[in-house]
Amino acid sequence: MRIVLIGPPGAGKGTQARVLAGLLAVPAISSGDLFRAETSRGSALGELVRRHTDAGELVPDELTATLVTRRLREPDAADGFLLDGYPRTVGQSELLERALDEDGTVLDAVIALDLPDDEIVRRLTGRRVCPACGTTVHTVFSPPRVPDRCDGCAGPLVRRADDTEETVLRRLAVYAEQTVPLLRWYTDRELLRPVDATGTVPEVCDRMRSALSLGAR
Ligand code: AMP
Repeated sequence: MRIVLIGPPGAGKGTQARVLAGLLAVPAISSGDLFRAETSRGSALGELVRRHTDAGELVPDELTATLVTRRLREPDAADGFLLDGYPRTVGQSELLERALDEDGTVLDAVIALDLPDDEIVRRLTGRRVCPACGTTVHTVFSPPRVPDRCDGCAGPLVRRADDTEETVLRRLAVYAEQTVPLLRWYTDRELLRPVDATGTVPEVCDRMRSALSLGAR
């Protein structure tokens, strides 16, 4: 299956993408992760990306599309993928549609996670991530066994530079302005499946499975 996961920052896209991609046996491809890999390489492209991500702004469409399309064309994504965080603008969805068309494929569904703003701010300002293995925890809701250490690989947990309250509020505004119009775009194409993102990870995952008619576990 070829699936897109849309949602405001903090809706749990990354976590759910990993779970769902595992169930579907397709790769989870996150534009945010592709950008973080680029910035950690310290390349000129990475520095350009960082200027946008640290301010909570979107990276320009063409650059984003080039990076994601290149990843989508790797062999492991030939039979399906779960796209997390791309597209985020109507321009990007047009570029994605064109790239898939060139490859003779189409999307099967677009899941739109929905979460109230106050819950988003609570989730993101307490979020800590492990740069080594990608594990995500919350200082209050799912604290690690040892403070500031990853339960998975024992590496140090860090706060993402864009998870400060000020940047989270900017990211929410950017989502409302630039990404919400996509919901209409995909509704018109009869691909949109809205999913309530409140509750636990398994609860949200079950709702996504129903939205995709995947049946019970
Ligand atoms: P995420 O990990 O999905 O929250 O993304 C982190 C940051 O990367 C975002 O706040 C944007 O600055 C940038 N980013 C990720 N995906 C996109 C995209 N599809 N278009 C533009 N910028 C993006």
